[in-house]
Amino acid sequence: MSRHRKPGWGEPAAEALRVTSTGPIAEFDAESTPGFDGDKEFGETLLAERGQVLADLQELLYANGRAGDNRSVLLVLQGMDTAGKGGIVRHVGGLVDPQGLAIKGFGKPTEEELEHDFLWRIRKAVPPAGRIGIFDRSHYEDVLPVRVHNLVPESEWSGRYELINEFESELVAAGTTVIKCALVVSKDEQKARLTERLERTDKYWKYNPGDIDERGFWDDYLEAYQAIFDKTDNDDAPWHLIPANKKWFARLAVCELLIDALEKLELNWPKADFDVEAERARVAELD
Ligand code: AMP
Ligand code: MG
Repeated sequence: MSRHRKPGWGEPAAEALRVTSTGPIAEFDAESTPGFDGDKEFGETLLAERGQVLADLQELLYANGRAGDNRSVLLVLQGMDTAGKGGIVRHVGGLVDPQGLAIKGFGKPTEEELEHDFLWRIRKAVPPAGRIGIFDRSHYEDVLPVRVHNLVPESEWSGRYELINEFESELVAAGTTVIKCALVVSKDEQKARLTERLERTDKYWKYNPGDIDERGFWDDYLEAYQAIFDKTDNDDAPWHLIPANKKWFARLAVCELLIDALEKLELNWPKADFDVEAERARVAELD
């Protein structure tokens, strides 16, 4: 299967980064590179190489989807403000054919969305057959800011973990491989990134004054994240902690998780649904 050793990795990323291996988020080192032995230069070179592997696997997934295979992959990205979710979409999503992606970002729910249950907008965005879906934030927001600020009563948000598990089981049963990643940035690194956003005119657009208020709830967010891992990590829809202070590592790690997920599908090129010999003969006779 896919468990042979990967270049640079002493242990597969999917194992080294799984929340069951990393320990609690509150003690997690956002500078670390679990399972990986290499520096930035090596990591960046490797990402280019592994990106080609990912691109080939993505094409295989897409081809199978076109041929009627119902399978897809969903990458769920969570993380505090400035953790680099957008960078993952751009730099890892950017390694493959954009036609094969289904990218969806989830912001504060609209009035219409609030009229429905919290999974309504999520269900509409799950990747179709043959695609790699990327959620930049997700249904987990409904147990993150919603829990931290009690945007709905505890009696309501506390029931969502089970609803999320049921929803994800349904997705998996329908052929979607679910990979969940929490990008972990340290408080110091977040300050540095917020500072940079105010120093560069080309970064103002990313600055949100509300991020400073949310930072005041750092420990509550860590607790809310830990509750998610404790209640919604399982072998069918595993959670990974991605150290995100080093952007090059976060990108490499997520790329490797996607490769691992796609390899496990053991896809082959779809067989021709036409008579190859007959078509060759027809093409040979074209003038
Ligand atoms: P950004 O990802 O920077 O565009 O910010 C999106 C904002 O929407 C963040 O502050 C999220 O916490 C917030 N958000 C996303 N989903 C929800 C939700 N279900 N309930 C409350 N806030 C949310
Ligand atoms: Mg933001």
